[in-house]
Amino acid sequence: MKPQPSFDIDFDKHNNASLRIACPECGHETAHHLKSLSPDSDIFCGKCNTNITLDMEAIALASREAAEIRKSYGVDGGA
Ligand SMILES: [Zn+2]
Repeated sequence: MKPQPSFDIDFDKHNNASLRIACPECGHETAHHLKSLSPDSDIFCGKCNTNITLDMEAIALASREAAEIRKSYGVDGGA
């Protein structure tokens, strides 16, 4: 199993969660909306074009973290 990239979670003004995914090769961060991600979608680094694919476990983890952050902000809705 290849190492999973690290990511940070941001929320836009519509409260949509997006992930800032750090490229495992060059460290360049690429932002993607959480709801646009799936284990089948290929993500490419905007700098070195490395394929950064998140597996289902990583996406589930990100979804849980986003839900926790949203709860701690006292907000609801969105993806
Ligand atoms: Zn890269």
